Amino acid sequence: MSTWLVTGGAGFIGGNFVLEAVQRGVRIINLDLLTYAGNLDTLSSLEGHPGHVFVKGDIGDAGLVERLLREHRPDAVINFAAESHVDRSIDGPAAFVQTNVLGTLALLEKTRDYWKSLDAPARDAFRFLHVSTDEVYGSLGDTGKFTETTPYAPNSPYSASKAASDHLVRAFHHTYGLPVLTTNCSNNYGPYQFPEKLIPLVIAKALAGEPLPVYGDGLNVRDWLYVGDHCAAIRRVLEAGRAGETYNVGGDAERQNIVVVKTICALLDRSRPLADGRARESLITYVKDRPGHDRRYAIDASKLQDELGWAPTVTFEQGMARTVEWYLDNQPWVQRVLDGSYRLERIGAAA
Ligand code: NAD
Repeated sequence: MSTWLVTGGAGFIGGNFVLEAVQRGVRIINLDLLTYAGNLDTLSSLEGHPGHVFVKGDIGDAGLVERLLREHRPDAVINFAAESHVDRSIDGPAAFVQTNVLGTLALLEKTRDYWKSLDAPARDAFRFLHVSTDEVYGSLGDTGKFTETTPYAPNSPYSASKAASDHLVRAFHHTYGLPVLTTNCSNNYGPYQFPEKLIPLVIAKALAGEPLPVYGDGLNVRDWLYVGDHCAAIRRVLEAGRAGETYNVGGDAERQNIVVVKTICALLDRSRPLADGRARESLITYVKDRPGHDRRYAIDASKLQDELGWAPTVTFEQGMARTVEWYLDNQPWVQRVLDGSYRLERIGAAA
């Protein structure tokens, strides 16, 4: 049985990844600091499961990381832990440097030491997979796509901190030989996403009949990938990616923000019409643009598709319908986030 140390596994993508990996029979050691973005409700179906060990703690806590590696002897480390919200990075960049840069550095150093202590076959098989973003590449004009060789040009404190962590990961391969893999993925959406991000935020507000805030002219373009497809890509890179390589991950689903919002409005109007009969599009309210807002991201995922045979399986339309349905079916999860009670920890979080 494989054992993986997953960091940030109580967050959106890490949570989806852990739920599926445990189901597939992988033993997961889940290290998460439970910041505002960490939510043990997401993992409640794993309570008492022998294949899941939750540890509340910081990836920057070198002593803790060292102990977890020594005690659990993982075959891989998968680093999801991060401060992840661009708007929060504009208000307070320091936390982003602390976790995304210094935290990743501590995790890399302890992982390198552990990896060096393994016997030769285990050392060859070991992988450190770093989950990153397409935002490190900066902003595109109307044409073109990011490839793995696009120069880094991060524009927000969030993307700058992720870029720094990507560089450290790369350096640990070139300097120490640590077998690393990096994935740079476009915008994710799906179950368990914290309702500060565009799609769950708009679903929550549209359901409540509240104004739907859209930055600037709403014409910023993002590529969208259903979270389950991102998790499948990470698993594929982990099992077959070449050590030292980076892989772009994308949904081939570029949409303007305003189109995303209107899609949600149409889906909800169909299944939950507003009591007063108004179309939800009438709730759209354009608000002052985010400072430094990148105009367009688009990702070329052909390396991952050609080398490793991965492709997205869920179209944008299918994924949006599934996501809206999930939020409708899981209102208690959303309500506990909105009223703050999700922070009352339930799983025994012994470090
Ligand atoms: P998230 O904010 O939902 O979850 C982050 C998790 O990390 C939370 O559970 C939080 O408690 C934990 N965490 C934060 N600081 C920590 C620390 N110091 N030590 C241990 N745990 C800590 O983020 P997400 O959307 O799930 O993103 C996960 C990763 O994927 C991030 O690295 C992000 O940069 C990357 N990514 C996200 C997207 C996206 O669209 N959400 C796209 C591409 C890449």
